[in-house]
Amino acid sequence: MQKIQMVDLKRQYNRIKPAVDAAIQQVIDSTAFINGPDVQAFAQELAEYLGVKHVIPCANGTDALQITLMALGLQPGDEVITPSFTYIATVEVVALLRLKPVFVDVDPDTYTMNLDSLKKAITPKTKAIIPVHLYGQCAPMEELLAIGKEYNIPIIEDNAQAIGGTYTFSNGQTVKTGSMATAGCTSFFPSKNLGCYGDGGAMFTNDDALADKMKMIANHGQKVRYYHEMVGCNSRLDTIQAAILRIKLCELDAYCAARIAVADYYDKAFANHANIVTPYRAPYSKHVFHQYTLQLKNVDRDAVVSALAERGIPSMIYYPVPCHKQNMFNGIDLGNLSLPVTDFLNPCVISLPIHTEFTEEELSFIATNFIEVIENLRTK
Ligand SMILES: *Cc1c(COP(=O)(O)O)cnc(C)c1O
Repeated sequence: MQKIQMVDLKRQYNRIKPAVDAAIQQVIDSTAFINGPDVQAFAQELAEYLGVKHVIPCANGTDALQITLMALGLQPGDEVITPSFTYIATVEVVALLRLKPVFVDVDPDTYTMNLDSLKKAITPKTKAIIPVHLYGQCAPMEELLAIGKEYNIPIIEDNAQAIGGTYTFSNGQTVKTGSMATAGCTSFFPSKNLGCYGDGGAMFTNDDALADKMKMIANHGQKVRYYHEMVGCNSRLDTIQAAILRIKLCELDAYCAARIAVADYYDKAFANHANIVTPYRAPYSKHVFHQYTLQLKNVDRDAVVSALAERGIPSMIYYPVPCHKQNMFNGIDLGNLSLPVTDFLNPCVISLPIHTEFTEEELSFIATNFIEVIENLRTK
């Protein structure tokens, strides 16, 4: 058996190696390293896949969020509501733009934005809401979109962990995650469900004017070369990365299916275990398991991580400190925060290896050892 990895990008590459190698070579031969034809082609193909009008590629997922907030014209002091139980990028861009992060709680079973917590946090200064489709599961978008409409607040989907997933509205209509709100943002970081071989990101929107502005901001605030209408930044997806992504986009549904199969395997192996709470799958969401994150009960999590490592099984804590407790916010008034679910989940979640290349033998090894480790260490 091969060494168990959290994410096995090598084996995944080996299955598409001839196509990827040829695509990279072709970009090099063309020397169209920046804004080569693959960038536009990929943007179009992704727009078709997602069912959105515009895909605007950029340098990474963090930039996608930042440029979207800039394109929406948010001004210093405007409030942006995000969950605290997320990757820091969602929130960091808010602070970077001198906007005010307003943290809300998540749902105890879906780990996505809690609607009651959100409603309580809305003020006349709220200028954007960023739900995060955490671990690959879509936030309750129908309700979120209704709230956005009621208060006239744009909604930005942080889709970095859920690309390929879907959401089903109560009328039965099923759409891709990232395609529903004012804008969607994603990352092509190598370990993401649709990852390139370096950094990359994209924004999605159906709004023509917003798309125009996003493009301008990502390109030094210019539409016509050397005529700069506004302060922007330099945020591009490399042609080589776009060429790789075109190949991997064709595999995305298969990659998601492979991840779901791993989650199914783990769910079955851990079903009804007294010390394990397996991930909940909301009926409205096709969870694409960027992470397989479960809760431990009555077991010392650090001891579990070490014991697994001794048996050759990596595990990760996503994320060890919730955003609202990060030192970067020392000295910033975050208001009177009460995030009981975030505070409860934070010390008990653990993520097991999940990727597109597992064999049944490897999964069985992980599951058997995980259960053994927990049973050796449990206090109740
Ligand atoms: C990965 C990620 C990002 C940022 O993506 P980068 O490409 O690393 O900048 C943003 N939000 C979430 C939820 C992520 O998981």
